[in-house]
Amino acid sequence: MRPEVLFPLFAPIRSLPGIGPRLEKLVEKLAGPKVVDLCWHLPSGLVDRRKRPKIADLRDGEIVTVEVVVGLHIAPRLKRLPYRVHVHDETGEMQIVFFNPRADWLTKTMPEGATRILSGKVEFYQGQPQMTHPDHIVSPEEIASLPLLEAIYPLTAGVTLKPLQKATKAAVERAPELPEWQDGPWLKARGWLPWLASLHAAHAPESIDDLDPNAAARARLAFDELLANQLALGLVRLRMRRLPGRVIKGDGHLRAKVTSALPFALTMAQTNALAEIDADMGSDHRMLRLLQGDVGSGKTVVALLAMLNAVEAGFQAAMMAPTEILARQHYASLAPLCEAAGVRLELLSGREKGKRRTDVLEGLASGAIDILVGTHAVFQNDVAFKALGLAVVDEQHRFGVHQRLQLQAKGGAGTDILVMTATPIPRTLTLTAYGDMDVSRLNEKPPGRKPVDTRALPLERLDDVVEAMRRALARSAQIYWVCPLVEESDEIDAAAAEERYKHLHEIFGDVVGLVHGRMKAAEKDAAMARFEAGETRILVATTVIEVGVNVPTATVMVIEHAERFGLAQLHQLRGRVGRGADKSSCLLLYQAPLGETAAARIKIMRETEDGFRIAEEDLRLRGAGELLGTRQSGLPTFRIADVAVHGELLAAAYDDARMILERDPELESSRGKALRVLLYLFERDEAIRYLRSG
Ligand code: ADP
Ligand code: MG
Repeated sequence: MRPEVLFPLFAPIRSLPGIGPRLEKLVEKLAGPKVVDLCWHLPSGLVDRRKRPKIADLRDGEIVTVEVVVGLHIAPRLKRLPYRVHVHDETGEMQIVFFNPRADWLTKTMPEGATRILSGKVEFYQGQPQMTHPDHIVSPEEIASLPLLEAIYPLTAGVTLKPLQKATKAAVERAPELPEWQDGPWLKARGWLPWLASLHAAHAPESIDDLDPNAAARARLAFDELLANQLALGLVRLRMRRLPGRVIKGDGHLRAKVTSALPFALTMAQTNALAEIDADMGSDHRMLRLLQGDVGSGKTVVALLAMLNAVEAGFQAAMMAPTEILARQHYASLAPLCEAAGVRLELLSGREKGKRRTDVLEGLASGAIDILVGTHAVFQNDVAFKALGLAVVDEQHRFGVHQRLQLQAKGGAGTDILVMTATPIPRTLTLTAYGDMDVSRLNEKPPGRKPVDTRALPLERLDDVVEAMRRALARSAQIYWVCPLVEESDEIDAAAAEERYKHLHEIFGDVVGLVHGRMKAAEKDAAMARFEAGETRILVATTVIEVGVNVPTATVMVIEHAERFGLAQLHQLRGRVGRGADKSSCLLLYQAPLGETAAARIKIMRETEDGFRIAEEDLRLRGAGELLGTRQSGLPTFRIADVAVHGELLAAAYDDARMILERDPELESSRGKALRVLLYLFERDEAIRYLRSG
């Protein structure tokens, strides 16, 4: 249960002054529905009204606060003309300009002969200083209410600054003192203030420097948020570890058969990863391990050998892929190896129906099926295993954390979990998303891979590209032609692909194939199969081929409108070639002129094939929010912290969380109790349930 001291922060924003039903909806969209959300809505700018010149010293464009005596009011002859009020001080005169003012308001606010303090922007008109609609007009007695430093907040259509400032101010004032959850010496070393003081300071910037994400107040709040995130992940991890696992130790007889059927030897990286997996499976705690490896680094065979380990020990194993194509492909590549080992492998996707499906379900329940490859269909309720020892989830970023948990439930107690991701994730992001997992990295590609020759060409040279394709086809090359992602819409993408298909088909005839997300599953399979078999030699496709598709004989990748793709995506796509013995190339066709970011992306693509470096650059160029399409990926989004700039703080939070949980796993010490408040503050309530006395 949320501690009472936090209640005011979790009240609806409606309870704040100035937030009526209309603003409520807009501010909710902008910041969030609760008072605390406005606390996290930090200023994006600041207006400094501290300059207090005399009229004679005014300069064009400056924001100033001036003390003046009000003179004549000059109402306009026509309503659309400005209303002018003359004012002066002992050094000179200026005009204050209003459009469509309410006359009674104006005579009350600026009565002739009164002294007033005005704040706003000075403009010169025909050599004379004037101020249009001052931001503030107060009498000398009210001077205290005039904010000399004013925070500017990010706004949205329909929300103006003043009511938002007012509501935010009230929100911050409701924030209570909270027990200190950070380590004292660490705060001191950083020069950070307590939480409440930091919150106030973050909303009261005194200079542009204070808006920097690394300014003391903001850094402190960001660190709080990161620590809450790491602590929550740490608690999940602890709990997982505490759950009884099964000791799974195969005798190696199936593995031996498969390894001798493989046409290659494992790389050092594969061997090491497998040793780590074996150690986890063989221990009595539950495995939760991430296998990170660039495209083509050979994760599949590692997964297979791990699954065989489970089968040898008398368990079943399952491998989940994010798409139908990929599941079928895994099935096809594993089938001969499983056959060689005498292991029964089956496939379950949305397309297995009726009797076929019933048979598979029976085989799973009876234990007759050793290894299941499937899609999301495996999550369905009627799918039950006899003894699921290991679950492998491929291409994790298409699955969410939620599904990870579902999968665990499916296994019942003790199922080991291996998550594979082909998208190299920067270390910082690995921590925020997978801080609860152990990580193995395949940082070495299988030997004999040749670098992919990457070039960029403007789209105007499409005809040259077509000529180059003609030459490549003469050398019997196989070519992927990826069409632009127009929108997040299968339909529109499909139309673009169909058009390009028609165009290329006119030129090259029946060697051109087509696959896109709007095709029926069976059509997609058929198109992929024809390409794999070499019947078609150019495959026009949308990004459905992005993930995992493996046709080693394909050596050319053309990406049309490369400027519309993100770096991670370009890298994934390029990873579809360079998988076989032949030299491969990648052509990035772009629409000139290139924007700055797109140009930077293409430059990086030309410079390196190192997925981890590309991921780091991607993070730098885009910020974490957009990376991998954060929202659908299950990566957390932060309110204050920005992993693109707070990487160092994140690493510190990770270390800190580990140390805290080592010393005080139930968060019972006085710091531990304060940390519980922190978890609630950042709405990591779920993690608290993992504590014994949550
Ligand atoms: P990914 O990590 O992208 O899933 P895959 O598992 O699909 O990579 O492997 C890519 C290709 O590399 C496959 O054709 C696979 O057979 C091959 N491969 C895997 N390991 C090795 C190795 N040690 N030596 C040579 N080829 C390998
Ligand atoms: Mg793969």
